[in-house]
Amino acid sequence: MTKPKHVLGISGGKDSAALAIYLRNTYPQLDINYYFCDTGKELDETYQLIERLEGYLGKNIEKLEPKEVKALGENPFDYYYQSYRGYLPSNVARWCTKKMKLEPFEAYVGESPTISYVGIRGDEDREGYISKKGNIQSIFPFRRNIWSEEIIKRVLSTKESEHIMDFYRGVLSGNSFDKVARLINEPLILEERNPEQNKRVTQEKLNLLFDQGLPEFNQVVFKYLKDKNYPISLEEDYPLLYNEDVLVRDDIFKLLRESEVGVPGYYEKMDYEVDGQTGQYARSRSGCYFCFFQQKIEWVWLHEQHPDLYLQAMEYENEKEGFTWNQNESLQDLIHPNRIHQIKSEHLNRMNREKSKGSKYLLDKVIDAEKDCIACFG
Ligand code: SF4
Repeated sequence: MTKPKHVLGISGGKDSAALAIYLRNTYPQLDINYYFCDTGKELDETYQLIERLEGYLGKNIEKLEPKEVKALGENPFDYYYQSYRGYLPSNVARWCTKKMKLEPFEAYVGESPTISYVGIRGDEDREGYISKKGNIQSIFPFRRNIWSEEIIKRVLSTKESEHIMDFYRGVLSGNSFDKVARLINEPLILEERNPEQNKRVTQEKLNLLFDQGLPEFNQVVFKYLKDKNYPISLEEDYPLLYNEDVLVRDDIFKLLRESEVGVPGYYEKMDYEVDGQTGQYARSRSGCYFCFFQQKIEWVWLHEQHPDLYLQAMEYENEKEGFTWNQNESLQDLIHPNRIHQIKSEHLNRMNREKSKGSKYLLDKVIDAEKDCIACFG
């Protein structure tokens, strides 16, 4: 029987690097191929992390570049920037992720059945920007629920309940089986226009099922998928079915530090001074140094910590009139001393407010609004 390919995309961020370390240590029997989609505009810290990770894994991390770009020996971002006639990408015209991350990944996988490991943590509530190609199946090892939304939807649908109960008969009995039977036969009532509430109701039901046995739930899903043409159906057994680990942010940092791969340099917090007070900033993500998703304080960080890159980002704005990385503010305006002072003060106030609320991970709060890009920031 053809076996599926197992792949893991390294974004240059902490979570995907930690996932590579975790899978290598916990499931060495999985033969995983690693890849990195290079935009040619990453920070040096990202390339350094990849090098250290290759050393630790003892495996090459394949650098994927679109064929047409590779043949010309051009910088991937600049190539597409020209072909989009100097239109900078933005969150509403996000050609960068499509052209430099998703398409090279799909070309790399081709039509082979593929299991793709995704580093979304157990303390996150998102699915990420994942490929929807039928031959690519995403698995989420850091979460209690390793399956994608699409699979869970199928497993919990009323029309599959008899089928699912048949599989449960093979793995559970007694009280646990009765509880599961009640849960499975109780229809999941979802409201058409309320995705957030639907997500919560689905998660509650899932948690109750998981409480009756997580490996048992996973075995049921695995059996259910056997005749459903998912890549995992080509596996005879799958070690992650028995996985009960849930990894959250602290675990990720611990894994990175203990492996000596280390935390990417841009996460290290640096002090800044404003009005006699000390604040701290860092970059909260991997990805292109000029990423339009970054917050104002991260632009200030870039200006103060990597002034050469800030200047290069400014040059893109100068090439085409009216185009800026940030809405309503050019990079030239952003580094006016009064504006830097204002950005730092606002940032410090926000940090202090979060601190007084007891929030632990202030830097992660900064990126909450854009946490959909596993390809760039995971
Ligand atoms: S990091 Fe930002 S700019 Fe770079 S590809 Fe991703 S979304 Fe686009």
